[in-house]
Amino acid sequence: MDNHNYDIIIIGAGAAGLAAAASASAGNSRVAVLEKMPRPARKVMITGKGRCNFTNMKSWSEFSEHLHPKAAFAKHSFYALTPENLVELFKENGLESVVERGDRVFPSSGKACDVVDTLVRAASSADLFCSTEVDDIQRENDIFVLSCKDGSRWTCTRLIVTTGGLSYPLTGSTGDGYRWASALGHTVRPQLPSLTAIVPKGYKDGSGHISRETPLSEYGRMLNGISLKNISLTLMIDGNPAQDEFGDIDFTDGGLEGPIGFKISRRCVSAISSGSKVGIVIDLKPAVSAEPLQSRISALFDDISKNPKFRNRHYRDRLLVLLGRLMPSALVKPFLADFPGTDHKRLSRDLKNWRMDIAGYVGYERCVVTNGGVSLDEVNSKTLESKLVPGLYFAGEVLDMDADTGGYNLHFAFSSGHLAGLSAAKSLK
Ligand SMILES: Cc1cc2nc3c(=O)[nH]c(=O)nc-3n(C[C@H](O)[C@H](O)[C@H](O)COP(=O)(O)OP(=O)(O)OC[C@H]3O[C@@H](n4cnc5c(N)ncnc54)[C@H](O)[C@@H]3O)c2cc1C
Repeated sequence: MDNHNYDIIIIGAGAAGLAAAASASAGNSRVAVLEKMPRPARKVMITGKGRCNFTNMKSWSEFSEHLHPKAAFAKHSFYALTPENLVELFKENGLESVVERGDRVFPSSGKACDVVDTLVRAASSADLFCSTEVDDIQRENDIFVLSCKDGSRWTCTRLIVTTGGLSYPLTGSTGDGYRWASALGHTVRPQLPSLTAIVPKGYKDGSGHISRETPLSEYGRMLNGISLKNISLTLMIDGNPAQDEFGDIDFTDGGLEGPIGFKISRRCVSAISSGSKVGIVIDLKPAVSAEPLQSRISALFDDISKNPKFRNRHYRDRLLVLLGRLMPSALVKPFLADFPGTDHKRLSRDLKNWRMDIAGYVGYERCVVTNGGVSLDEVNSKTLESKLVPGLYFAGEVLDMDADTGGYNLHFAFSSGHLAGLSAAKSLK
């Protein structure tokens, strides 16, 4: 049996693990990173649709609004490695970056693989062992003893767990860290998918977790492929408004997603899982209130009805022309499926009140991040060391911290990994 001893061992060479390896190995500590996949940071490779939105340049006060459930926990990590520091660290290791709309930062090359190469370079003072899956962790006196699936045995006095969450399990994150944290006495908050497609009733068969692979129903096929811009959307939980958002949504083969679809998914999934009745109300014309909108619609309908091209047509045909002027043409059919009796006199009400019940959501197979994880109450936010087990550290998505889209999740992974690595190395001195 192979036996290896290191000062610091990091489990998981993802975003947090590689950042931890870079900071922990900057001094004299002997650092090993154990990664179960044949290559590191598989998930980072698929981030930002292959472009990797790796951070966001917002100041802490704005940045923190995008972190859940307890942004204050991430403050020390954020200041240990700010977005500016991260951009600089990447630059020192050969990666140029570009800031885009909404302060989101991407590699100038537009390639997530360049971020992975840069991370691996930054962590090159640590020993990286791929295809090395940790199976079990025991604590014997003050020493952590790790057993791997390949039969190897590893010991250290400082252990950093950066095994990620449960999303996209094919990238290697299968929730192993939760199991060990729990066995070592930590509270692990229940996990749920977040930043995921939510599925309107009738879009696909099923309820609760509805696999991405489930075929679309006829209603789903009508909506699939439609993107709506500048709409407002209210999430309703048990009949009460719970969240208001303004922006864009996309109907896809999964369900409803896009920027504000993702934004409401966290609360939506949680509410469905706890048995609440969930729905959404879409306002297709948020810039105009109902009365002036109805006056405009009536005037428009009069014009259409007087137009020689349409004036001899049936009412229903003229209504279709009207709808085609008020919404993307592909939306007319599903809109009429939900409002079969609509007429030009009540159209403003329907355009501003498109209600859909939400039956379920796409699960870990295709969600972006995991809501839940190792309880923040039992981890010191200044060092990321466990308050229960000295020498044990957690960073990244394994912790009960998740964020909106915009580079916030990766920044939390990098900055918390960096702080955990620094703290573990410092504690050895
Ligand atoms: C499709 C998609 C797109 C995304 N896009 C963005 C984006 O553009 N911007 C953004 O900010 N965030 C994005 N995210 C979220 C972001 O990728 C994650 O929040 C981040 O990768 C979490 O980092 P982590 O290091 O904690 O976990 P991971 O990156 O998941 O790394 C965990 C590592 O631990 C390894 N591991 C697990 N168990 C073991 C074990 N038993 N032994 C050894 N190794 C183990 C895994 O193989 C993995 O390599 C995206 C996520 C997805 C799924």
